[in-house]
Amino acid sequence: MPDGSADTKPRTMPAAEARTLRSPAALVRAGLVPPGAEPELDRLTARYAIAVSPTVQGLIDPADPADPIARQYIPDMAELETAEQERSDPTSDVPFTPVKGVVHRYPDRALLKPLLACPVYCRFCFRREVVGPDGGLLSEAELEAALDWFAATPQVREAVLTGGDPLMLSPRRLGHIIRRLSAIPHLDIIRLHSRVPVAAPERITPEMLYALETDKALFLCVHANHAREFGTAARSALRALNRAGTVLLGQSVLLRGVNDSAEALEALFRAMLAARVKPYYLHQLDRAPGTARFEVPIAEGRAILRALRGQLTGLAWPTYVLDLPGGAGKAPLGPDFAVAEGADWLVEGPLDGMRQRHAEPPRPAHGFPPPHPSR
Ligand code: SF4
Repeated sequence: MPDGSADTKPRTMPAAEARTLRSPAALVRAGLVPPGAEPELDRLTARYAIAVSPTVQGLIDPADPADPIARQYIPDMAELETAEQERSDPTSDVPFTPVKGVVHRYPDRALLKPLLACPVYCRFCFRREVVGPDGGLLSEAELEAALDWFAATPQVREAVLTGGDPLMLSPRRLGHIIRRLSAIPHLDIIRLHSRVPVAAPERITPEMLYALETDKALFLCVHANHAREFGTAARSALRALNRAGTVLLGQSVLLRGVNDSAEALEALFRAMLAARVKPYYLHQLDRAPGTARFEVPIAEGRAILRALRGQLTGLAWPTYVLDLPGGAGKAPLGPDFAVAEGADWLVEGPLDGMRQRHAEPPRPAHGFPPPHPSR
């Protein structure tokens, strides 16, 4: 694996001795930003939160100015420059919020955001204008109103707990939410989106596993962007979740300087699979303010994935998606291997790059199947 693994990189400090770094001064003391950077970075942290957890500190190589882990979490003054195309709510949560803490964009599923705190604050986060250590914990009354909304909305079959990070809740509060959702007959699936297994794996305690117990299908979508995020502690947290019956999926963002090569993505997807995590989504960057330095053009993303097709087990293949602004949904971005030509298809072989003609079966006289939409 060209990117190595967490176990082979130098660790700057034992994770157990460190604390989460939450200020420019703490980053300077840890040697993660140069001395003298505090006054400027204080301006930045007045707007955007910082948190670098002990586990993440242990993954950063401070001697590498282009370290792909540091790039995800160490603030940069470029974050205060908002490009013309960037929006404060790029995925349009606000217009789809029927009650506080709920986002209902798709017919059969809805988000529940019980808090907006995270174990780390990613510099490319699409909710960066709202996440932070003291933001967004729903009050008891607001949480009950949100859970009542799920109970009263039968077309919703899946509750997606996100935030912030739902595994930052106490096991007591998370257990209450899981039990309330588990008692709703029309819900089939409870899904959680979390950075905790890779950024703060010590939170996956027996109490947390107990809190997650449910008769529903429970999916945990782990957010990770680099192979090195799957260190020893992360892998054992994921193994414990898997043994407890949680289906593990991976979601990643295509990020300049972090995973923008076939080698880096191959290492990431292989590290995920080895940790029992099935790659699910590879997101095109959401254009949140101050994130332009992370954007990889879609054409480049498609070319990287095309280079991987056939080289990697199909289990490793995520769907590459763009979450369209305005709540229009997640659109798959390819790459495509089939193009229509007349009544046939030309299909490219991932192994040899050659196109083969695939003729459609003759269409029955009585109109079934319907004509292909592109014709
Ligand atoms: S963990 Fe998720 S919600 Fe929290 S800062 Fe990172 S990307 Fe944003």
